[in-house]
Amino acid sequence: MPESDSAATQTARILEPERKPMAGVTDPYLREQLEKRRVELKTAISAVPATDAPAAAPLVDLLDQVDSAVHRMDQGAYGICDGCQGTVERARLIADPLVRLCLDCLSSDEQRALERDLELASQVQRGLLPQTDVRFGDWRIHYQYKPAGIVSGDYCDLIPPVSQDGKLFFLLGDVSGKGVAASLLMTHLNAMFRTLASIGLELDKLLELANRLFCESTIAGQYATLVCGRASKTGEIEIASSGHPPALLVSPNGVKQVGATGLPLGMFSTSRYAVQRIRLEPGDSLLLFTDGISEARDLSGQEYGIGGLSRAAGDRHGWASKDLVAACLEDVERYSAGVRQADDQTLMAVHLAQSSAAAFND
Ligand SMILES: [Zn+2]
Repeated sequence: MPESDSAATQTARILEPERKPMAGVTDPYLREQLEKRRVELKTAISAVPATDAPAAAPLVDLLDQVDSAVHRMDQGAYGICDGCQGTVERARLIADPLVRLCLDCLSSDEQRALERDLELASQVQRGLLPQTDVRFGDWRIHYQYKPAGIVSGDYCDLIPPVSQDGKLFFLLGDVSGKGVAASLLMTHLNAMFRTLASIGLELDKLLELANRLFCESTIAGQYATLVCGRASKTGEIEIASSGHPPALLVSPNGVKQVGATGLPLGMFSTSRYAVQRIRLEPGDSLLLFTDGISEARDLSGQEYGIGGLSRAAGDRHGWASKDLVAACLEDVERYSAGVRQADDQTLMAVHLAQSSAAAFND
């Protein structure tokens, strides 16, 4: 059994408390955010009539705080916690560049307020997930989604076709970083693909467009790996991958890896994505996973690896998607028993049922 965390410990872990003593934060993005706030505040202050000084006072106070933050950045002291002289968590500075205390130095009331916000973020995120079991023609799709903390940076979606002769989208991805910043990017991916899936682009063009939009909307250094597939009722799958770990095709001939066909989303605005076409036979499955599964470790620190998952899935050709996912996750859990789950884990099986079995189950 993994040891259980208190909510406060989870909060601390989720906000990446990477702390190097006395390391001031000098980030062009944060400087730009401070400069923007300075301009906005000056405009707002100038709009207050000179006769109404009390109305301007809180704005002037905020402007002082912004000026002080820029000054500290110039001195190399920005982002150093006023309480313990450690470094304030970067994700929190992005959310509010005027924050001056690290998580450990917040009062218990402030920590509780933060935990309530995280719980709310978690509810919003869970509300975005598709049903765990989806049927489409003879396809049977099942997934399990296991965040390591309160919120997750894994992205998972199943988007049904808008028309009768359309195809079903299945998507699985992983956003760089952890915690709140990653979960916000995950919700952004969800909204973007839900919109793009309905406009009828070819898969390669769709990913190119998604990449450009993602590049424009993300902060430097944040990106997402993703497998994007489309299943037709005839048993054919089109699949493209932006730097994500390979999908595993489970057939009577063993397990074959279907690798990445392009770079992660958000890295270069000109990225291209080749599309692979695969035909599945009844009984075959395609397994998609995030690296929280392949990088799960045992007590000696050894990774489970793609090999571990391939072995677990290889013995189970013909298994229904739900049983296959459950058996593989049990195998990962057995392997990493006694070790805390460090990363979000998501596993999806896209299974082509035998037509008779499909009819029987319907
Ligand atoms: Zn501190």
